[in-house]
Amino acid sequence: MKCPACGHRPTRVLDSRATEDEEAIRRRRECGTCGYRFTTYERAESKTLVVIKKDGRREAYDPDKILAGMVKACEKRPIPLETLEQITQEIEDELRRLPTRQVSSGLIGEKVLERLRRLDEVAYVRFASVNREFEDARRFVEEVATLTQEREAK
Ligand SMILES: [Zn+2]
Repeated sequence: MKCPACGHRPTRVLDSRATEDEEAIRRRRECGTCGYRFTTYERAESKTLVVIKKDGRREAYDPDKILAGMVKACEKRPIPLETLEQITQEIEDELRRLPTRQVSSGLIGEKVLERLRRLDEVAYVRFASVNREFEDARRFVEEVATLTQEREAK
């Protein structure tokens, strides 16, 4: 397992236990090189998620892609990597509770946006503009206006 902070391996497992729903093994790991601690989840492959892209192509669900997209959007923002890892896991859990194994990339994008919106305005706007999950530019402008109003109301 590669360390998400410095990219080195190996990492040491500090703790292993089943998640509450007993559908996964949660492992707490520590990097032997930089000491960074992170959590991984190991699941049976029985319920492989398939992502349907906007152009109709299908690909295997990859949580690393979601995480990478958020890390990019949160560049130079005061958000710990651990928070983004948690969000990635939350989204995956939600997707796995759906009655289908096929999810649209748009739905995943919406879920990411929903969380970034609460977390960090700048990251939210960045993610939205990069991933173009908004149907049109007008809706995007409305969203930004709403955020501004909410901030001023505080
Ligand atoms: Zn490391």
